[in-house]
Amino acid sequence: MSTKKRYKESDWGDWKWQIRNTINDIETFEDVTGIKFAAEEKDELSETLNKFPLAITPYYLSLIEVNDFRNDPVFKQSFPDVKELCVEPYEMKDPLSEDEDSPVAGITHRYPDRVLFHISNVCSMYCRHCTRKRKVGDVDYIPNKDTLLEGIAYIKEHPQVRDVLLSGGDPLMLDDDYLDWVLTQIREIPHVEVIRIGSRMPVVLPYRITDNLVNVLKKHHPVWLNTHFNHPREFTNASKEAISKLANAGVPVGNQSVLLSGVNDCPKIMKKLMHLLVKNRVRPYYLYQCDLSEGLTHFRTPVGKGIEIMESLIGHTSGFSVPTYVIDAPGGGGKIPAMPNYIISWSTNKVVLRNYEGVITTYKEPDSYEPIFCNRKCDECVLPLKLDEGQEFEAIGVNKLLSDYDDTISLVPEDNERHLLRESY
Ligand SMILES: *Cc1c(COP(=O)(O)O)cnc(C)c1O
Ligand code: SF4
Repeated sequence: MSTKKRYKESDWGDWKWQIRNTINDIETFEDVTGIKFAAEEKDELSETLNKFPLAITPYYLSLIEVNDFRNDPVFKQSFPDVKELCVEPYEMKDPLSEDEDSPVAGITHRYPDRVLFHISNVCSMYCRHCTRKRKVGDVDYIPNKDTLLEGIAYIKEHPQVRDVLLSGGDPLMLDDDYLDWVLTQIREIPHVEVIRIGSRMPVVLPYRITDNLVNVLKKHHPVWLNTHFNHPREFTNASKEAISKLANAGVPVGNQSVLLSGVNDCPKIMKKLMHLLVKNRVRPYYLYQCDLSEGLTHFRTPVGKGIEIMESLIGHTSGFSVPTYVIDAPGGGGKIPAMPNYIISWSTNKVVLRNYEGVITTYKEPDSYEPIFCNRKCDECVLPLKLDEGQEFEAIGVNKLLSDYDDTISLVPEDNERHLLRESY
């Protein structure tokens, strides 16, 4: 807390002051914390900053345990490491192909019914493990209204979009009036049911969650917010108050953590983190396997660590304290859930399962079952599905293989050699 003493108490809780006083260079960091780096390390550190900017809010910096900073989870997430300069051949600038799946500036449309809308290129604190390093922070900007209107027009033209996810950068870098304008524009689109905001502000700059901000959000309900706590140390009175304001305003708050080597790759830390989240009315949503973005090698764990963490959570704690562990597929395949196996074997009328304790058990299935044949003629079906506006789209993927109304029997990769050979006959 020694860093905090340098500032006036009245300034400290003012988010705009925090942003104006964000630490952007190594010298200031040394100055404020009293930590000193050797000349050689400093040179290398400066090089990392050419690739990805340094920004730490005075608030987030005040959480660093200066005496043991090398092991500190806040330090590791916010301060560059020379290992960032190492780029492995399998790493990519845009591992999730967000740019390829972008029809207009700012929009990533990957899943049929929802879009990612990047409305800010800046964050108050740049996470060293950020998956969008290629974009975020390269040029500090918040798009102007004309640019945002292009994204909004795209959403208007696509009636299947029922969920708009505001992302960035950090959308809460926009001031309240501008955000209000964006939310108003989106809310006017009749087919948009849900608006989501992804923001790390409750963790890195909780003072951003002001009464005025929550009053703005409240006007545009249903508005959901997902934040990004990675370690129990990030829970402070200030961050708890920020979440509480959001929850009291009726904003369902979720959390997306990233599994990070040396930060939270421990079942005990994770369980503690999940418990702190739910105690503060935040629902754990996703636990991400660290992406294949460039320079993140030192942060990545094997997938097995994630599975081990899930094993330690499922059944061992409240169901709503368990996030979904996901691997975001390189190339734009979207998020793929991964978890331990619970189904051990199967016969025609019996399933063998094991529980979290290792008890092996059986579930007896019905000996006869009258399946409902589905030809998608819902009006003639015995199940009374009465949809007023049947927002239905064709089943895709494995779901299509399972359906009665589509006669696809296999999904074959475009370049399957056996099939190409057939075509050449
Ligand atoms: C993560 C993501 C979403 C939202 O996915 P959910 O599983 O619904 O949270 C939407 N679009 C893109 C491009 C994403 O990466
Ligand atoms: S808050 Fe999100 S977008 Fe911003 S630097 Fe962190 S991970 Fe990247």
